Amino acid sequence: MLTSTMSAKGLTTGEVQAHLAEVYGADVSRQTISTITDKVLDGMAEWQNRPLDPVHPVAFIDAIHVKIRDGAVANRPVYVALAVTVEGRREMLGLWAGDGGEGAKHWMHILTEIKNRGAGDVLMLVCDGLKGLARRGQTVWPQTVVQTCVVHLLRNSFRYAARQDWDKIAKVLRPVYTAVTEEAALERFAEFADTWGRKYPAIIRLWENAWEEFTPFLRFDKLPHHKTLDEYDFSFQPDLDPRKVKDLATLSFVEGKTNAALLGPPGVGKTHIAVALAVAACRAGYSIYFTSLDDMVRNLKAAETAGRLTNKLGTYLRPGVLVVDEVGYQPLERAEANLVFQVISKCYEKGSIILTSNKTFGEWGQVFGDEVLATAILDRLLHHCEVISINGPSYRLKNRLQAIERDTDVA
Ligand code: ADP
Ligand code: MG
Repeated sequence: MLTSTMSAKGLTTGEVQAHLAEVYGADVSRQTISTITDKVLDGMAEWQNRPLDPVHPVAFIDAIHVKIRDGAVANRPVYVALAVTVEGRREMLGLWAGDGGEGAKHWMHILTEIKNRGAGDVLMLVCDGLKGLARRGQTVWPQTVVQTCVVHLLRNSFRYAARQDWDKIAKVLRPVYTAVTEEAALERFAEFADTWGRKYPAIIRLWENAWEEFTPFLRFDKLPHHKTLDEYDFSFQPDLDPRKVKDLATLSFVEGKTNAALLGPPGVGKTHIAVALAVAACRAGYSIYFTSLDDMVRNLKAAETAGRLTNKLGTYLRPGVLVVDEVGYQPLERAEANLVFQVISKCYEKGSIILTSNKTFGEWGQVFGDEVLATAILDRLLHHCEVISINGPSYRLKNRLQAIERDTDVA
């Protein structure tokens, strides 16, 4: 903190010496101080001016208020820019002290400085709802998607509300920012406005003003679609017991950190149901991650080669619900199967996995290229798992077959 406040304030060496003297007390000699500060300052200046990666997938910018002793102790803004690198590492881009002047203007200087250090593009810029900031961010990086930080939006909402309403407001706002689509978010927001709009019109205005920058993240999930169980025609799969599926939709398996497996041939709606469950979990406030087994294996392999396996594993282990689609479409090599084992065993009793497979569990030995490994995976997976087999006809072929039948009838 000391070094950051000093550098951030842009103090001269002399000022820093005074600052250090004040902090360290009189028994630190002038010479020692100057040696320390020279080292600190050299390092800081170098660090603060170092070249940056050309592309950052995400950058977060925020001002924090810290007490800085400057004669008297005063609250000063310190501007913080954090980014995620292409390899998925978090990186502090820099720290700057503000003088308390207009924030958005100050940010403009900082963002320009970041760009001049080589950060040619930032794909998504996450910031608080500060007026004018989105526009300025897009001046520096014209292609960037500006995303309002949801935490800021909530915090600012509470500012307008009486303390005794905070819990109630949080509860009604939650479905807005955990909605799966923008449309759904709008509906939930309309409900919020109905309930609280009269008492707190300022909160409604706050969200309406931030809406455009609030919604981008809703477009970035990895789900192949947003189908729900209502759209699933159970009459097309008479052998499938709807109660079993609806039971899963209560999400008690997610709460209990257990698993669900959907098995069956192509086209019977395994992915449809898996997505519907994930969407429901997301609405209930769980974090979700959707991936095909092949994508997961490919990403883990690449991370392992780059020496970043632990980090990448986190992507699959952090969410409350991990959907692994299409187990068994491609046989895996032993090393690949081992990576899958790591995910499954680390998820065990810590989170839920929903998986889909066109293979029976008996065939998993072939899928994973190793009976022992397949057994070890199945052992963890199936210990607490709802298994649903759908063995009817392919829905994809339904219309095609009807059309063919019609054609042959005519003929
Ligand atoms: P699978 O993953 O089992 O191969 P999908 O879930 O991808 O199959 O289903 C294929 C397509 O058919 C999807 O568009 C899905 O929404 C639809 N579909 C499958 N089964 C049904 C059903 N019973 N009712 C409505 N749509 C279905
Ligand atoms: Mg599928």
